[in-house]
Amino acid sequence: MIPFNFIYYRPDSLQEAADIYSTLQSKGQKAVYFAGGSEIITMCRTGSIQPKAVIDIKNIPECGLLSLYNQKLQIGSVCTLNQISESKLFPLMRLACGRIADHTNQCRITLGGNLCGSIIYRETSLPLLLADAEITLYGPEGERTVPLRSVFYQCMQLKPGEMIVQVQIPVWALSARHYHIKKTANEKIDYPLVSVAAICKDSKLRLAFSGICSYPFRSEQMESALNQQTKSFEERVKQAAELLPEPVYADAEGSGEYRLFVFKNTLRQLLEDWDNGKI
Ligand SMILES: Cc1cc2nc3c(=O)[nH]c(=O)nc-3n(C[C@H](O)[C@H](O)[C@H](O)COP(=O)(O)OP(=O)(O)OC[C@H]3O[C@@H](n4cnc5c(N)ncnc54)[C@H](O)[C@@H]3O)c2cc1C
Repeated sequence: MIPFNFIYYRPDSLQEAADIYSTLQSKGQKAVYFAGGSEIITMCRTGSIQPKAVIDIKNIPECGLLSLYNQKLQIGSVCTLNQISESKLFPLMRLACGRIADHTNQCRITLGGNLCGSIIYRETSLPLLLADAEITLYGPEGERTVPLRSVFYQCMQLKPGEMIVQVQIPVWALSARHYHIKKTANEKIDYPLVSVAAICKDSKLRLAFSGICSYPFRSEQMESALNQQTKSFEERVKQAAELLPEPVYADAEGSGEYRLFVFKNTLRQLLEDWDNGKI
């Protein structure tokens, strides 16, 4: 049970949603955009957030698109992980979505919720960062479409009242050779100790990671280290690990030392598979 009252809005357009947000803000009332609701409802129940209103964006047509248009795949922010997987349009994203939570939750968790939520892994960001995806945002100041990497640094860097409308993925990424591996401490479906996504572009591997640090990231420096074909796998992996952007993440699932061990083994396996033409 949610132990406080709140107002529920379900706007039909982006403009209406942003107007509701602005009106509430001008009255000093806190509102949150609501997608799958899995995180918001939990946080309301536990009392860690207490919004005056939730603005459910699932009726907004632009947020629900999932189609190819103009040489790009558009994925609306309220598409669920399951819808994205089932569409089979972006194979690397399909693998990432298929390893987040269990099937029941995959039918509820949305792309926007995964990117904006407080749980640090945000694993759907990995395929998007690798594919040079663009993102369309809408808020009280209007609409903007920008490269995802310019607004996703550790987490989504949104302006007040801004929401994710959709992402656009260039078609080359939909058919690119790719690799996804997620290592967990216990169950197949769990938070990652280490999650690695890779895509091949211009005969080079691009790589993005979650779990190994306290935020997901793509590192071009680490990519350069791992693509040095004249060096041994061991040397490349060692160099890449030295280029991690912050100390290795540690929690109850795994110590920093253990995560680093798993990370290095995963990278070595990836390079072997790449070398053997399995990617
Ligand atoms: C059982 C379980 C297992 C999980 N395992 C993993 C995992 O392995 N890896 C992983 O990466 N994540 C995992 N998650 C985290 C999950 O992806 C997030 O909790 C996500 O926020 C839930 O999405 P939602 O659509 O339900 O979000 P909601 O609860 O609707 O929203 C979450 C937050 O995002 C904001 N938001 C939602 N949509 C938008 C939008 N379009 N624009 C702006 N802000 C928006 C909301 O305002 C809120 O702050 C797991 C979650 C569960 C419940």
